[in-house]
This record gives sequence, structure tokens and C-alpha cells, in this order.
Amino acid sequence: MQTARIDLHLHLDGSLNLRWAYEKALQRGAIAPGCSFEEFYGIVYANNTKDRALSILKFELMCDVLQYREDLIDATAQLVRTLREEGLYYAEIRFASQQHTKAGLTQQDALQAVIDGAAEGMTANPGIRIGIINCMMHKGDSAAFNIAENLETIRVTKALLGKGAVGLDLAGFENNCPFIDYAPLFEEAHREGIPCTMHAGEMGEGSHVLDALSMKPDRIGHGVNCVQDPAYLQAVLDAGIPLEVCVSSNVKRDLNYAAHPVRLLLEKGVKVTINTDNRVFARTNTLHEHMMLRMLGVTDEQLIRCTRNAAEAAFCDGETREWLCYRLDKEFC
Ligand SMILES: [Zn+2]
Repeated sequence: MQTARIDLHLHLDGSLNLRWAYEKALQRGAIAPGCSFEEFYGIVYANNTKDRALSILKFELMCDVLQYREDLIDATAQLVRTLREEGLYYAEIRFASQQHTKAGLTQQDALQAVIDGAAEGMTANPGIRIGIINCMMHKGDSAAFNIAENLETIRVTKALLGKGAVGLDLAGFENNCPFIDYAPLFEEAHREGIPCTMHAGEMGEGSHVLDALSMKPDRIGHGVNCVQDPAYLQAVLDAGIPLEVCVSSNVKRDLNYAAHPVRLLLEKGVKVTINTDNRVFARTNTLHEHMMLRMLGVTDEQLIRCTRNAAEAAFCDGETREWLCYRLDKEFC
């Protein structure tokens, strides 16, 4: 049975077709003219997870190839086609509009391009629906470092909410500065009525999950480090907040799937959703995530529950949720 039907946590820049990205990087001057595909591949797949500078480099490289409207459209439409081919019914693709303004696009231009790419992908590949999440970024050593860009991210997301944009995220390196310093940005997002998620408790302390909960997001990206303390885990259960769990992305360093807390989260009754994060960097897709969990003993019933959790937690409109639940009911009855 295919239980993998929804992906709620999927970064565009970490999920590009590599051959396309290489050719685009050459064309746009993001890599030296003599750089071979193998060298490019080496940068993207370098064993660099302990080296923050190298880790940032691969994300920056992927962002550098996505600075033009036509490229953002192309990349998004390609990703939608791939997701549909894999059998997904719904996905939320996220990216940070503030990372795509180097060649003159405004944040709103960049968001509109990704929305247009998703629309193109949905038209060409019926049977899948897509929402776009725009990411605020952790950058520098304080939340003040890029507060203007983050406020602009909120503004353009509000402008295109319901027109392809479905929500906001906070991404980047969660240990840059006190996590709670981002609270005013979430207050602003709540005032604007924008659904929110945020990366928390992924590479950072489990206590970040408590900070995140205090900022009242609708979901938490990762959140798996809440298992560091029973009190954190209890807070997640009490809040009933869905977690966007991305197992392969977390275990990329040593591939020890058995050590990942996902099974404990499921056992405790956390609202787990199963996602890919970065398809290229984590070398995965949604089918692979479900397959690996099945190999660890997670049952089809539990995987179906995760997919239903995702349908309930999606930042989509009521009509799309009804359509999605109808399809899942038919399949999982
Ligand atoms: Zn992520």
C-alpha cells in the first residue's frame, strides 16, 4: 500500500534536479566556467555536515542558480512534476524569497515566480495540489541582523496569501542567537492572520521547542529534539501541535535510522507528519521515508495516521482539505 501521499516540509533549493542545477549554475555564473559536473556534485554532496561553512556553501550555491524569474518557475514546475510522478496528492514547497533578490527580483517577484511555477506544474500534472510557504531566515548573530528582510517576507506573504502562498516559516541556523528573539516577527505574522511553522529543535536544543510553542505556530518544523527532556515532549503532547518530521534529513551524518526518535514520538502519540526536507541533500523522497520507517517496524496504520495528520495540518483552504481527505478516505478505508 502506498501511504506516502503528502509532503509538508520540502525546500525548493534543496530539491533541485542536479543536472538542471549544474547547467543553470554554469549559465548564471554561479560556478567557474571550467567546473565539471563531477566537481559540482562534489560540492553538493561533500561530507560536510560538521563544517558549517561548507554546509552553508551548498545552500548558497543552490540559491545562486535561482535568481531569475524563469529559473524559479522552471525549478518549481519540475519539482511538482516529480512529486506527482511519485504519487503525491499534496505538497507544501518552501523557499525564502529574501534569498532570491541578487539579480534584481524583489521578494514579491520571487514569491510570485514560485507560485507561477507551481501553477504551471499543477496544470501540466493534474491530481496534485501545491501550497507555497515563504521562509523568514535566521542570519547573522542577532534577530536584528535581517529584520527588515524578514518583515518584508511577512508583507509579501500576506500580499499573496490565498493566491498560491499558504504560510510562513523560520529557517536557517537556529543556534545563531536566542531563539525567542524572533517572537516579535511571529506576533506580526499572527496579526496578519498568516499560518506559521518554524524550524525548531532540529539542530538546536530541545528547549527551542518550548520557545517555539510560546510563539504559537500552527506546526513545528522537525521538533524532534523535544525528546531530550520528558517535559519538552509533554509540552508538545499538551499543545497537540503537529511536527514536520524529516528522518533521512536528520540522520544524514551516520544513517542511523534506528537511533532517530520518530518511533518514540509515534508511540507517545505526537501528531507526526513524514516529510523529506531537502530531497537532494538528504538523498530521499517521500516514498523512501515511508519505506525506511516500515523497515523499522512502523506499521501501515501508523503511516496512514501520519498522512492523515498531514492532511489535517496542511495550510490549505477548506475545499482543498476536503478534496484531499476524500482521496485519502477512498484509499485508506
Ligand atoms: Zn527544513
